[in-house]
Amino acid sequence: MPNRKQSEEPTMVRHGWQGVTVAIPEEWNIGAISGDNTAGYARWDDDEMPRLEIKWASEKGFVDLNSVIDKYLKDLQKGRKKKDPEIHIERDIKLPGKSKRKKAGVKCFHWKGGVEGYGAAWICKECGRTMIAQVMVPPGQDEEEARDLAGSIMLGIEDHPRDGWVLWSAYGMDCWIPEDFKLSGQRLMAGLIEFSFEKETETIKVARWGMANVALKRKSLKEWTGGEMAKDFRKHAADAEESEVKGHEALDISGSNIAGVQLLHRFYFHCTGKLFADHFLAKAWHCEPTNSIHYVETYLDRENVGLVDEIVGRVECHPGCNDGAEGNEPS
Ligand SMILES: [Zn+2]
Ligand SMILES: [Zn+2]
Repeated sequence: MPNRKQSEEPTMVRHGWQGVTVAIPEEWNIGAISGDNTAGYARWDDDEMPRLEIKWASEKGFVDLNSVIDKYLKDLQKGRKKKDPEIHIERDIKLPGKSKRKKAGVKCFHWKGGVEGYGAAWICKECGRTMIAQVMVPPGQDEEEARDLAGSIMLGIEDHPRDGWVLWSAYGMDCWIPEDFKLSGQRLMAGLIEFSFEKETETIKVARWGMANVALKRKSLKEWTGGEMAKDFRKHAADAEESEVKGHEALDISGSNIAGVQLLHRFYFHCTGKLFADHFLAKAWHCEPTNSIHYVETYLDRENVGLVDEIVGRVECHPGCNDGAEGNEPS
């Protein structure tokens, strides 16, 4: 078993899901996700065990934080197997760490049984989300280091989006999407990470493929992207032109405008003050330093055609690629 005691501070990487943003050690990766923006759960694991769990819920009316924690700890006890040691719980402990947002009344706790963990719970005054997080401690870790890490992770959690943009990340792929778009699908596979979003008729898709050197061995970027996205390209009669993104070989993809019955739908939507997706715009690019192919696809109302460039601009395909770029997300 590797020595867990780390004398150096771990490199922290920012992750986001459903409006929750958290900085965690770079070796931790998403292990489980469920629910949605209203109520959900995410877990990040290291190579050996779950390390961080975050639960969020938006409940109307008064929420008693103490009873939320009571229930949480009761479930923890219930999950204990007979042969496991008894779980000892310490309530209302103090954890070190800086709170980025006002977490008035954040309550921290510690528990130790077969596994050990630190927890924190709070209700955000701004967005109303009830948050509960816990960091699990691997056996043999230095107590002070474990506390420091747990505190800095949990008290650094941002529980709602900032400036209207939501960070979505998995396995090193990050993208920022406007908060009014909801996640409608995801594919988390070894060679492909893909997120889909929707807002009424409008849709956004962001994808990253690995092993670009293999994918592009016998095919141009245009041939390859056309093959992968054949369904979408056909549907929108899309055409691609060569261009450049962040200094990489890229494609500008656009679809022809709508016709027939769609025109009537658009007319109706616009008459009722709603947006109607009829502009298909996408970009694909080959990031050599990370050996990956990135793709951002938007199908949006004419009012939102600038969004594809904003989303592409915020993608960090390789470290430092956005340095000096305007509108760069501050870290
Ligand atoms: Zn909040
Ligand atoms: Zn790049």
